[in-house]
Amino acid sequence: MYFLPLLYFDHNATTPVAPEVADALDGSVRQVWGNASSIHSAGQIARQQLEQARRTIASFLRAKATELVFTSGGTESNNIAILGLVRGFTAARKHIVTTTIEHPAVLEPCRQLEREGVEVSYVGAGRNGVVAVEAIRAAIRSETVLVSVMHANNETGVLQPVAAIGRLVRELREAGQTIYFHSDGVQAFGKVPVDLNADAIDLYSTSAHKIYAPKGVGALFVAKSVPLRGIQFGGRHERERRAGTENVPGAVAFARAVELCASYPASFIAGLRDRFEKQVGDALPDVQINGRSSPRLPNTSSVTFHGASGEGIVIALDLLGMAVSSGSACSSGSTEPSHVLLAMGLRREEARSSVRFSFGRYNTEPDVDALADSVIKTARRLRKSSAKEAHVVTG
Ligand SMILES: *Cc1c(COP(=O)(O)O)cnc(C)c1O
Repeated sequence: MYFLPLLYFDHNATTPVAPEVADALDGSVRQVWGNASSIHSAGQIARQQLEQARRTIASFLRAKATELVFTSGGTESNNIAILGLVRGFTAARKHIVTTTIEHPAVLEPCRQLEREGVEVSYVGAGRNGVVAVEAIRAAIRSETVLVSVMHANNETGVLQPVAAIGRLVRELREAGQTIYFHSDGVQAFGKVPVDLNADAIDLYSTSAHKIYAPKGVGALFVAKSVPLRGIQFGGRHERERRAGTENVPGAVAFARAVELCASYPASFIAGLRDRFEKQVGDALPDVQINGRSSPRLPNTSSVTFHGASGEGIVIALDLLGMAVSSGSACSSGSTEPSHVLLAMGLRREEARSSVRFSFGRYNTEPDVDALADSVIKTARRLRKSSAKEAHVVTG
């Protein structure tokens, strides 16, 4: 038997599958099992479902269906965008500008390209969690072919100035430089509006499991003009950008999840988040909410509890049936402090005392009140015991 947490506040790691999405998935899995590349009717029905799903997701992004490539998720979308674009250029023109607050699914492909001889500049973020457009501009050289800056950070929820960076890259391109702009939109997609055309984003990564659909499916937007090659070989699927038989039920579920996003207003989730931050802030006035002064996702709260271990809080809350996270899901399990919080200038001790709360559509006000109450009590208890251990009072 599996134990599921009673109260889930870790939606930036993954979300539960919405019942409507599970129904769409179930219908497609059972009935539409044809190979979308087959020419017989079973194949054509699969192809129709796949293309319908593509149109739904593309229109949500205000993109053309032909600009959307289905992938296995956010990590693969980022890998195809970065490796697939940059490997196509000659050795003379290989430089990337990205940031130190990116998800490992962007940082690691960049590190791989460094091993292949590509130069990468990593631009930092300010204390407010925002990457400055001027710092991006200063890092761009004549041999820069790609700028990759995430739309919303997964740990702090802070929104990055993608529209301004998009305009900057577009101006350079209009002035004759071959340069493209990729944004990891995995956390922003479905939570805040995005207009790829207006923001001049050339490549945009999304993932289904962050918006109440199953894991293992995602999409990469590739603007028509981008010279992107696939990075895996074995078939001409997805306009030769992602070889492999298409996951039709996954795409159908993803499209259903995208449709549902419109019925859950951001203001509801922001209300829960603000309610939580107010209760915790009133009871523990010295906590610090990271990125609070910046535009943020409506659902994310990154809190530093000076003098209490973030991991300790995560474990104590788990025993109370509440799921939250310290650092990102990918790095938890290790005691390494969050690279994002360190990049924002937090001290290691502060980063280690931080917890991420990410709210979702099935959370309620009573859930949030219960969370805040447990968080306040746990932080007080941990502070007392760590103060005793250190023989100093940390407040
Ligand atoms: C979750 C996440 C990813 C990875 O997506 P997967 O579908 O899990 O591979 C990439 N970038 C960001 C910002 C994320 O939050």
